[in-house]
Amino acid sequence: MRILVTGGVGYIGSHTVLQLLRADHEILVFDNYSNSSPEAMRRIKHLSQREPEMIIGDIQDSVALSNAFRYFRPDAVIHFAGLKSVGESSIVPLRYYAENIGGTVEILRAMDDVQCRRIVFSSSATVYGVARYLPFDEGHPRNPESPYGRTKYFVEELIKDWTVAGLDRSAVLLRYFNPVGADASAILGEDPNGPPNNLMPYITQVAVGRLACLSIFGDNYETRDGTGERDYIHVEDLASAHLAALEFGACHVGCEAINIGTGHGVTVLEMIEAFEAASGRKIRFKIVGRRDGDVARSFASVEKAYKKLGWKARYGIYEMCRSAWNWQLRNPDGYRQL
Ligand code: NAD
Ligand code: UDP
Repeated sequence: MRILVTGGVGYIGSHTVLQLLRADHEILVFDNYSNSSPEAMRRIKHLSQREPEMIIGDIQDSVALSNAFRYFRPDAVIHFAGLKSVGESSIVPLRYYAENIGGTVEILRAMDDVQCRRIVFSSSATVYGVARYLPFDEGHPRNPESPYGRTKYFVEELIKDWTVAGLDRSAVLLRYFNPVGADASAILGEDPNGPPNNLMPYITQVAVGRLACLSIFGDNYETRDGTGERDYIHVEDLASAHLAALEFGACHVGCEAINIGTGHGVTVLEMIEAFEAASGRKIRFKIVGRRDGDVARSFASVEKAYKKLGWKARYGIYEMCRSAWNWQLRNPDGYRQL
């Protein structure tokens, strides 16, 4: 299949592009490197022993996008590109709306232009907001609490409208839970700019000595041990879900939203314990106040993913920690050359 991947050099995109190349798909990556590094692209090539096409461009640039689509004529699109920080989205909401929503409109236009009818979109569990019940199934009301979450909600709606307007269009909206971990090679991984906002990269940076101490945001939630509970998913499993979604989209029309998680919640303290076991390092931590906007518990119902895509997660929390640690140990400064 010929697949145009927006944001294909980023954390999730790079792991997915690697699997796509290994599965012999033809790939064009469209990325502006705003949150990724050419070094990641070089490593994808090295690991796959393939030369995927790459265009450096912004999804808001309709001319660049349209040229890329006319040149490559993809059968399908995987759309990762966008801004993803919950906190930042409250400070610069218009940037988030313009890039995440406006950028997606441009992608759908460019697809129409070359009669490309299939898309897989990176949505997020943040579309659900506070749980009315658990696990979150795909029918749970969506009530996102941040501008970032709302951009995912609106993009889901606009992609759905796009599929309704054309009989042969297909879209899979993958609602990721908490992606963590790294490729087994330890050559690709997560490389956040500045101090990480997310738990796993924070833990690995404490373990490697880049940061002094993890702050646990609250230990008085209604969970097993009082700390926040999340459904962590290995990035390699998440990548393989995209391949399953592409196959599904090749023989279905319409729009399907599908959760991608393991179905199991892990608390912050349980994550620290698993990481210590996987790495042999002690993680220094202190308990601080709750972080604004955090929910107590979030985990997925994964039945639909199995029923529709025949996909389920293979890796558990130990493998997630082990791969994240191997990546951090081998690349203490991420993709930046020392
Ligand atoms: P990332 O920032 O590592 O990757 C995004 C990639 O898109 C980067 O390579 C960046 O350079 C590129 N990009 C950003 N804006 C662009 C633009 N305007 N034009 C072209 N390229 C652009 O993020 P990620 O963690 O790999 O996430 C990928 C997608 O998955 C995002 O849409 C994100 O919202 C979604 N998602 C991520 C998580 C998570 O925890 N990582 C959870 C749920 C959903
Ligand atoms: N968390 C924490 N310290 C950190 C980062 C995160 O205690 O430095 C907690 C956070 O409160 C939540 C869990 O770890 O309970 C996962 O947070 P993350 O930001 O990784 O994911 P999200 O909140 O977006 O689900």
